[in-house]
Amino acid sequence: MSHNVCVYPGSFDPVTKGHMDIITRAAKLFPEVVVAVLINPAKAGSFTVEKRLNMLRKACAHLENVRVDHFDGLLVDYMHKTGAKVVVRGLRAVSDFENEFQMAQVNHQMAPDVETLFMMTSPECAYLSSSVVREIARFDGDISDFVPPCILEDVKNTLTGNNQ
Ligand code: ADP
Repeated sequence: MSHNVCVYPGSFDPVTKGHMDIITRAAKLFPEVVVAVLINPAKAGSFTVEKRLNMLRKACAHLENVRVDHFDGLLVDYMHKTGAKVVVRGLRAVSDFENEFQMAQVNHQMAPDVETLFMMTSPECAYLSSSVVREIARFDGDISDFVPPCILEDVKNTLTGNNQ
């Protein structure tokens, strides 16, 4: 990997159209984008890591310069291991700012060679989050506006089926 690679880390539990908006825009700016699912043993998530990776791979299949990976531990260690220099994060409301600001500062302290870039949400995705999708899907609401069409059934089956 090189300076031309950016890493978009997150839980993606599950990937939403908001995430896809950021991924698609980042893929126009960088020759290579790595979407990296954080494995957090303290936070099991609603979807297994395997399912999250599968859904991301399906949703990004049409984007040639995007690949999907996973990591555990510290993001800065993953950045150093892979040699990537840029982290991309998305910002929705002001409420995102404080957490993102703190994380970027701490990461900068630990790894001054890694830069965090923020992309503002597109207005039509501003209200969208994985937790909103999970809530609506659990009660069998219509999530087709919120997740990529190719993963719609995966999300519904996991959240409303017997396998939850
Ligand atoms: P995390 O648990 O790390 O916040 P998420 O999967 O919730 O992981 O989000 C990953 C990144 O995508 C974060 O930077 C988050 O702010 C951003 N993001 C999530 N939803 C949207 C959206 N609708 N528009 C723009 N950015 C978003």
